[in-house]
Amino acid sequence: RKISEKYDKVFTTGCLDPKKEVNAPRVNAAFVVLARNKELPGVIDSIKSVERHFNQWFHYPYVFLNNEEFNSTFKETIRNYTSSPVEFGKIDPSSWGYPDWVDARVAKEGIAKQGDAAIMYGGMESYHHMCRFYSGFFYKHELLLKYDWYWRVEPDIKYFCDITYDPFAAMVKANKTYGFTIAVKELKETVPNIFRYASAYKRVNNITSQGLWEMFVEPKPEKEKIDELPKGDPKYDKEKPLPEDILRGEPGSGTLPEIDPEAMEGEIYNMCHFWSNFEIARLDFFRSKEYEDFFTMMDRSGGFWMERWGDAPIHSLAAGALLSPSDIHYFRDFGYRHTTIQHCPANAPARQMPRAPYFGTPDMNAIAESRHRAGDSSMKKELAEEEEYWAK
Ligand code: GDP
Ligand code: MN
Repeated sequence: RKISEKYDKVFTTGCLDPKKEVNAPRVNAAFVVLARNKELPGVIDSIKSVERHFNQWFHYPYVFLNNEEFNSTFKETIRNYTSSPVEFGKIDPSSWGYPDWVDARVAKEGIAKQGDAAIMYGGMESYHHMCRFYSGFFYKHELLLKYDWYWRVEPDIKYFCDITYDPFAAMVKANKTYGFTIAVKELKETVPNIFRYASAYKRVNNITSQGLWEMFVEPKPEKEKIDELPKGDPKYDKEKPLPEDILRGEPGSGTLPEIDPEAMEGEIYNMCHFWSNFEIARLDFFRSKEYEDFFTMMDRSGGFWMERWGDAPIHSLAAGALLSPSDIHYFRDFGYRHTTIQHCPANAPARQMPRAPYFGTPDMNAIAESRHRAGDSSMKKELAEEEEYWAK
């Protein structure tokens, strides 16, 4: 099915007057920022950018979360950069770290192995915990229970265009569930088995795709080419069984089975995912029984430790299984950057949801990255402007 303009129009073209827009009622929503105390400078940069380009008009509240207590410097400093309501929450150990059904010793060994294999963040235990928290717990945090929508913010992000309308209200009006600005390819070695489990979830629960799932599936080779493949190629072999206890949703061993990472039951993951450091989404999507079942099954496989599953592919594959293209909004009008990857509205494909093989306009990301490395002069100018703005 073609994912086209009719499913996902730009909410607003051109600039609105934010001072008029603010007269419309607010949505029950908040910014969510998970961070460590030591990340304060990066968090401040992000808040400055969010405030300057959007929240100085709209005044949405912030919820800061941390697996440790935020110190007073962090809290006091943040309050200097926004006049919006701010709350700081500590994450309960039950939502962070190893659950009791997992053998922490085995998990730690798994993580150490990924470190040895030089998998990005693979050897970093806290990163695994962070990914699992953002996959299955953030939306249950007590400070978020009162909200229906969230907008995720990370340290070291930057908006470089004014957002002159309320994206939450636009999402509500258009009946959207999940919004993104950048979609990229995941590092294969961080998720060798993720797709096997995600497609098993679909199969076990008799879920038929509403059209979004296909965004994550590598197109199959032509029929003739399949015939040419050597017999018994695991890629196109029939399903290899997954552990029974995991399929039943019972606590598994927390260790993924030794399998050929290429064996994915005929469907192959194209590694695409919505880059989750930016997200605007409905919390009740995550709070649904379907999502909970999905998370539980993925979690029980042990993939958050034995591999380094990110929350981005988890959110994306859950959306792929449970949502339709019309539930997704591509914020192609947001100028956004996180570290080396950025989305510039001027380069955005105007009317289409990105889809394989052009998913996430990789050419643009490559350009952004190379420019960033080369110290692109337009970026320098923009940074200088930003400094000037804040110096006033
Ligand atoms: P990257 O964007 O994938 O390079 O990963 P980050 O280091 O930015 O981590 C993603 C998000 O999780 C950011 O908001 C971090 O501040 C946060 N984060 C990562 N690890 C931890 C942790 O151990 N504790 C807390 N409180 N936040 C973390
Ligand atoms: Mn980050």
